[in-house]
Amino acid sequence: MLSFVYILIILHFRSSFSNKVPKMETGLHERDRAGVQDFVLLENYKSEDAFIDNLKKRFQENLIYVSVRSRCPTASLTHSLFFHLQTYIGQVLISVNPYKQLPIYSDAHIKEYRNKHFYEMPPHIFAVTDNAFRSLIEENRGQCVLISGESGSGKTEASKKVLQYIAACSGHQTTVEGVKDKLLKSNPVLEAFGNAKTNRNDNSSRFGKYMDIQFDYKGAPIGGNILNYLLEKSRVVAQTAGERNFHIFYQLVAGADATLLQELRLERALDSYSYLSDGLNGSVASINDADNFKQVQQALSVIDFSAEEQREIFAIVASILHLGNIGFNEVEGNAQVNNRDLVITVSRLLGVNASELGAALTHRTIDARGDVVTSPLNQELAIYARDALAKAVYDRMFSWLVQRLNISLQAKETRGTRNNVMGILDIYGFEIFKRNNFEQFCINFCNEKLQQLFIELTLKSEQDEYRREGIEWIPVEYFDNKVICNLIEEKHKGIISILDEECLRPGEPTDRTFLEKLTNKLAEHQHYVCHEKAPIHVQKIMGRDEFRLVHYAGEVTYSVNGFLDKNNDLLFRDLKETLSKAGNTIVRSCFPEQELRSKKRPETAISQFKTSLNNLMDILMCKEPSYIRCIKPNDLQSPGIFDDQLVLHQVKYLGLMENLRVRRAGFAYRRSYELFLNRYKCLSKNTWPNYKGAGGAKAAVQLLVKDLGYDNEQYKLGETKLFIRWPRTLFDTEDAYQAK
Ligand code: ADP
Ligand code: MG
Repeated sequence: MLSFVYILIILHFRSSFSNKVPKMETGLHERDRAGVQDFVLLENYKSEDAFIDNLKKRFQENLIYVSVRSRCPTASLTHSLFFHLQTYIGQVLISVNPYKQLPIYSDAHIKEYRNKHFYEMPPHIFAVTDNAFRSLIEENRGQCVLISGESGSGKTEASKKVLQYIAACSGHQTTVEGVKDKLLKSNPVLEAFGNAKTNRNDNSSRFGKYMDIQFDYKGAPIGGNILNYLLEKSRVVAQTAGERNFHIFYQLVAGADATLLQELRLERALDSYSYLSDGLNGSVASINDADNFKQVQQALSVIDFSAEEQREIFAIVASILHLGNIGFNEVEGNAQVNNRDLVITVSRLLGVNASELGAALTHRTIDARGDVVTSPLNQELAIYARDALAKAVYDRMFSWLVQRLNISLQAKETRGTRNNVMGILDIYGFEIFKRNNFEQFCINFCNEKLQQLFIELTLKSEQDEYRREGIEWIPVEYFDNKVICNLIEEKHKGIISILDEECLRPGEPTDRTFLEKLTNKLAEHQHYVCHEKAPIHVQKIMGRDEFRLVHYAGEVTYSVNGFLDKNNDLLFRDLKETLSKAGNTIVRSCFPEQELRSKKRPETAISQFKTSLNNLMDILMCKEPSYIRCIKPNDLQSPGIFDDQLVLHQVKYLGLMENLRVRRAGFAYRRSYELFLNRYKCLSKNTWPNYKGAGGAKAAVQLLVKDLGYDNEQYKLGETKLFIRWPRTLFDTEDAYQAK
């Protein structure tokens, strides 16, 4: 009788296995006919044209998501093993920015995706999130959703959808609702202070953000924590043509009521403010600054910011606008403030002494081993000091804001929830502008690191495992950008080291001497291009003050102007001292007195950034990743336009083709022999109740899979593990197990 059941089971495997068209493509989602929704189903999967064509077809049907997953099993599986399967190789979702609102994010959609298997539903951010969320709850594994893509490709919107889904699907007790509200409301606040209109994106994030959401064992969110990375603070004092300062400045001017405006001594006219008049002076069609200001105020209240705290924040923002209008005359080489009223306004807003501030803006005190000397600044240096002050105050206020948010988001009870964390990373995308500066250098370095992580987790570790296990495998070639990461960050030899060395060197280091050192040391490097050695056509577009890096995502020419200065990030001591005594408590806490007393040279900007990025990598490495790779379909921020070349370029550098090839050729399932045997030994009389032959678990599993009807192509026996190519067969095995 038992053997009859076995035969039935085996027949069942064979028949379902030969049914090569996965069910979801034929039955469940017939409406989804435009292209394939999962790239592994693409017949001509090695062809770039076919890849782009599939993305395009779907894009034209408003189907902006395509997944890259392993072969699809049947759609009706509900057992726990499924989750193990999901988790082996990080899921990858490709998302193409539609630049228009699509009706695919409603509560009804969320419901549809809730607790469905990934394979059952068309690809969607909700599916990725649901899957990660369940792994988190059911397996207690920390998760992270890594969102990457260039500026304007849809990262920030994607991160909000992840949060939206989680908020909708997790516990609904009142305590939890409060936490969710705060998590959701942190976004408009951070965007107001950290985002700006750029030429690429009307709402471009000018800082990196990693947000952890903590859950209790039942899956209810109980807290969160945000890490912020390198705000582009140079924007506070100057903007490129067509761009704006951070949103909050315009919001405050447009949205504050008359009383607040009066209190802050502001006028509605944007062109009254020098810090707002550099780039695009005014409003942007897609942005309603006044409305957004109301939202920010409301959000701040939800996150428990007191009225006093809010008042102090807006006083700081206003003080920066006033500060920018302070000009200097030069009398016998000494700078003099040309508008004392403004100095008084700024002093009132920050709660500092007006004459002290005036003096600090025009003098510099140097404490050289106990010899304290104060000397006047010339006009140029006074302007420099003023701008440095504006940048420092804004930057530190932003970090304060994040810390303050974190206090509000802190979980009350964290016992036993160590692993129940889901991280969402939304960090600035790769940037190539006509002129690229220190900021782009930092941003692109960060993107190199993230690409390295992607390679590590999806391409390299996968293939390494096959090698380690002795599985026959034709390696998939891919470009490993480690060489570029090293070029930038290697100790003693890399660009960061050379920059820091130059910043710390006595004598008169300049941006030019830094460039000379770079070229001396790196001219031979295949990813570094200096002016002299550049090909003629590159030389034509390169200035003598520029160097060029061959990044994984393209070549970028950087101007060294400002590198030393931005890296040193110097704020004169007199200004720090003035602020350390400020009546505005936020300012005072941002400029602590200890900093003045510290003899240690502060870390350079790039070194701080490097350290924080490496810490981030450590955090991400120990979590299970899901990837959302965002693609920008055109450079015009317009709906309906799909620029093949632009998309192809992104597909190439994101490593999506290689990722697909590894998936296609790979084995979706693997288990150690012992574990597999333990679970399935009951399915063969040769292994039930115990395997008695020689050769241990491996031999037993070999016998078992044969009895289960797998043919040689479907599985491989590694050193310590069994590998199964398509999960479908395994699911059938699991079905058989469940049936018993
Ligand atoms: P990134 O963070 O990658 O720079 P954003 O997420 O800010 O890009 O997206 C830029 C703009 O593109 C958004 O302001 C929005 O107008 C549009 N956009 C992005 N994703 C979507 C989406 N899923 N649906 C509709 N519009 C989107
Ligand atoms: Mg963004």
